[in-house]
Parts: sequence; structure tokens; C-alpha cells
Amino acid sequence: MKRSLTFIVLLVFLAIAVPAQEKIRDIRPTVILISIDGFRSDYLVRYRPKYLLRLARRGVLAQWMTPSFPTKTFPNHYTVATGLFPSNHGIVANNMYDPEFDAEFGLGKREEVQNPRWWGGEPIWVTAEKQGERAGAYFFPGTETKIGGVQPTYWRDYDGEVSNETRVDTVLSWFDLPLGKRPTLVTMYFSDVDDAGHGFSPESEETRDAVLRVDEMIGRLLDGLKNRGIDRKVNFVIVSDHGMAAVPQNNSIILDDYFDTSLAERIFWVSELVQIWPKQGKADEIYKAIRSKLPKSAKIFAKSEIPERFKWRDHKRIPPLVVVPDPGWIIVNRERFEKMRDEGRLNDVRGSHGYDNLAPEMRALFIGSGPAFKSGAIAAPFRNVEVYNMMCHILGLTPAPNDGDFKNVEMLLKK
Ligand code: AMP
Ligand code: ZN
Ligand code: ZN
Repeated sequence: MKRSLTFIVLLVFLAIAVPAQEKIRDIRPTVILISIDGFRSDYLVRYRPKYLLRLARRGVLAQWMTPSFPTKTFPNHYTVATGLFPSNHGIVANNMYDPEFDAEFGLGKREEVQNPRWWGGEPIWVTAEKQGERAGAYFFPGTETKIGGVQPTYWRDYDGEVSNETRVDTVLSWFDLPLGKRPTLVTMYFSDVDDAGHGFSPESEETRDAVLRVDEMIGRLLDGLKNRGIDRKVNFVIVSDHGMAAVPQNNSIILDDYFDTSLAERIFWVSELVQIWPKQGKADEIYKAIRSKLPKSAKIFAKSEIPERFKWRDHKRIPPLVVVPDPGWIIVNRERFEKMRDEGRLNDVRGSHGYDNLAPEMRALFIGSGPAFKSGAIAAPFRNVEVYNMMCHILGLTPAPNDGDFKNVEMLLKK
């Protein structure tokens, strides 16, 4: 008797000391856009992350989402955000040169990443803020600067060192804000899967572990939302920017063996897409030299020859010459090749992306789950330019002009 009384007193004390999470009863149509960098579409079946699978079962899973060319991080995130192809939003690569600004852009160049001059089009957070909603971004390329004079109400400077737990818990705290301050569009970003894919290749234990680690964060988010009574009331749009191809490092094309690099003004030595800005009048000479020696596992394109289907040609930041290897190959310069050789790394298998956007290895993830989405549906593949219109529709926003067509994704949503 005395024991059970003590127990009851203890329970009452606990109930007072740890107040239950307050339920949110006035939630408006909400989208949580989650990017899992480098999550290849087949990882879902291969590694069976339980929370992602749960959301997919409750909602819509695309067979895959087709990324845009080049299959790199910044161009594709910003395509998802704007519904524009990279040549129409201006982030044509992770690394690029603008002849008008006479300036270079790169992921690590904070002052350029945060300079509005690079970012064209209208990303979803700007559409939302302009139409009276609030947006919050725990990372997403483009959210660290004003675009069209507008930035998300809540945002963070990119810092890959911030733990995933902090990202999730901070986003959850935004939901505790009163209605007028609570964001209805939230973005999140996780890099673990991309990092592991690069370092250890897509079909490695490390990549599987990274997928399961990020999945735990999806679980943490779902738990937090459930405690607030809204896990079934918000919409999840879970995407990746591109997939990942396995690359035996022996599959290296040593490009500077084929032409005189002093004929170029600048070269972006990115393994999966080399950009060459020739010196005045030297484009032809470089083109012919490379063309005559380049192995079949790579192609050189003069700007005018870039395949139409890449939708990547008519922009001042796309250089006169580009070299694109096949998936599974990388382009290096001799210095880097010799370093890899001397360090005994040529037999390593690593991971790469940036290739042809129709390559199966580059296929991206799409899961849409929540009250706006159909339940238990598998969707035919669609392009990542379609996500913007979908999010606008869910949020009741008028979309800015873009390259998507709502008809292509309308069937994913409930009437
Ligand atoms: P990639 O070179 O295309 O594989 O780019 C992936 C890397 O982009 C990640 O490992 C991150 O370090 C980096 N990244 C992602 N988002 C941002 C951001 N907002 N600002 C700067 N770097 C970022
Ligand atoms: Zn990426
Ligand atoms: Zn990457």
C-alpha cells in the first residue's frame, strides 16, 4: 500500500516536473523539404532505412527522380528549389567563372556563395515569404543570401560541423513558435550519405551506415513531430540532388597529357566535369588536340555541341570547352594522378557524381508523404524541375515562372 502510494506521488511529481510537449492545434499546410545529399535512388531498397520506408509507404515514392546536368550539389539543390534548369537559374556548376563579374564561384567561397549576384530565379522560400508565409532553413544552398531582396525568416550559415541532432532539434523548436512566426516551409540538409559515397563508394558498408544514420534523424524528427501531434499533419518532401557512381581510381584520364594547358586562361579541374576557358583565339587548338587523343570513356564538347537534352548551354558561365567522362571514370591532371599513384591509391574504389543526368547511377530520391500526397503509391520517374510547382501547390502559393509543368506531378497529390 505504502509502496504504491510512493509510486503515485512519484508519477505526479514527474508529470509536474516534465510537462508533456504541447500539442500544436493550429498547423497550416506545411512542407518540410529534406535533402539527403548523394542518396542514390536504389539505396532505399538496398539499405532498407526504416523511417524513410515508413514515409514512402504512407505516401508516394518515385521509382526515381531524374537530376539535372551537371549532377552536382549546388546546381541540383537550386533546381529543386526553383523549378529551373541550371542554365536558367545561373548556378551552372559547383565551381564556375562569370566573365562579366570576372569572378569565380565555389562552395567554399563564402563571400561569393553569400553574394546575391549569382542566384537567379525565385526559390520556394522566396515565393513563400513574398506571399506572406514564413520559411526556415537549416541549410540549403541559396538560403544564406537575399534573393530578389528576400531571405528565409530563419536560416543558418552553412557549417558541416553542426550535428544532425542539432539540425533536427532546432527545426522542431521552430514548430513551437506561435502561428504567425511558425514557418510553413522548412528546409533541411544532410551530407553524410554523399561523404560516405565519395570516400568508400556507393555499395560500401560505410555508405549503408551513413544511410541508416541519417534515417535515425528522420526518426528523431518524426518523434518530435508526433509529440507535438503533427507528424501526420505536415508534408515531407524528401529528395536527393543526385546519385553516386563507383569509380576504381585506375579509371583516370590524364587530360593534361593531351593538350598544352598554357593555352587556357583557366581550367576547373573537377574530376567529373572539366571546364576550360581558353586564351583568346586558342579554343580551336585546344579542342583539336584533346579531340584527337581523348579515350572513348570521355567526350569533349565545344559549347555549341553540348547535347540539347542536357539543357545546359546558353549561359555566360558555361565555358567554351567542357570535357565529360562516362560514369565510372574521372579526369585528373598528371600531378594529381602521380600523387594518387605514389600514395598507392590507384586500386581504391571511390564514388563520384556530376555525369550525364540520364545515367542510372545518377538517379535521385523522391519521397512525398503527408496529407497532401496520395498514400501507398509508386510514381513513374520525373525530373527534379517538377518539385517546385508541387511544393507551391501544397502551400497554396502562386509559382513563379519555371521549367516544370504541374501536370507531370499532379497525380502524386490528393485531389
Ligand atoms: P559535391 O562536391 O557536389 O559532392 O558537394 C557536396 C558538399 O557540398 C557537401 O559535402 C557539403 O560540404 C557541401 N555543401 C552543402 N551545402 C552547402 C552550403 N550551403 N554551402 C557550402 N557548402 C555546402
Ligand atoms: Zn550532392
Ligand atoms: Zn558529392
